[in-house]
Amino acid sequence: MDNRFTAIMLGPPGAGKGTQAVRVAEKYEVPHISTGDILRDNVARETELGLKARSFMEGGDLVPDDLIIALIADRIEQGDADSGFLLDGFPRTLAQAVALEDLLREKEMPIEVVVLLDVNDDEIVRRISSRYLCRDCGRDANLGTGMITDVCPHCGGELYQREDDTAETVQNRLQVYRRQTAPLVEYYEGKNLLMKVDGIGSIDEISGRMFRDLEREWESGNG
Ligand code: AMP
Repeated sequence: MDNRFTAIMLGPPGAGKGTQAVRVAEKYEVPHISTGDILRDNVARETELGLKARSFMEGGDLVPDDLIIALIADRIEQGDADSGFLLDGFPRTLAQAVALEDLLREKEMPIEVVVLLDVNDDEIVRRISSRYLCRDCGRDANLGTGMITDVCPHCGGELYQREDDTAETVQNRLQVYRRQTAPLVEYYEGKNLLMKVDGIGSIDEISGRMFRDLEREWESGNG
């Protein structure tokens, strides 16, 4: 075991993976690699990948494995990932998890921990339908207080809702999660890598719990 922080953030859509991932990546000084963010950027720039991915994303379906695996292979080859990384929104299928293992075996950087943010379905639907993001700083405007502001509480920027955050798309994304991504929970449990964190509460409460468990699970073995 070496001291590189290599982790995955797992959980249903709307569990708060992105918000917590930013904090974890900052604390452990590793890049935060979000396949959703990379795809949205490609859609906005109308790249070849963006044009291929767009219709899947709009319907709340998964983008085909080969496209995503190529994207991740390329991203973890970039120098900043040599000292570790936090993956957010990847892997989402067993095929992706196996492909990731193959990629990391070559780099001799196995995954050290998989954080599962555990949130029930009712809470997910409630959170996603009240999710507003900032066009300027990209952060979530919802501070966990239930209050929706007109402008971004972090930087005053303009707010918008993600195109795939509509009620019917959310239901599909949840189904896709249960069918295709939830089996990864058992998969990583079997490898003794899963760290389940209760994802209900304020953003600070959840990160408090997560950091406490991470310190115990990861830092004790790595220093
Ligand atoms: P996210 O921001 O992680 O919720 O991702 C938004 C959308 O991007 C998903 O609903 C999928 O359409 C697509 N996507 C992101 N990551 C993956 C992945 N690992 N595999 C397949 N599709 C993905």
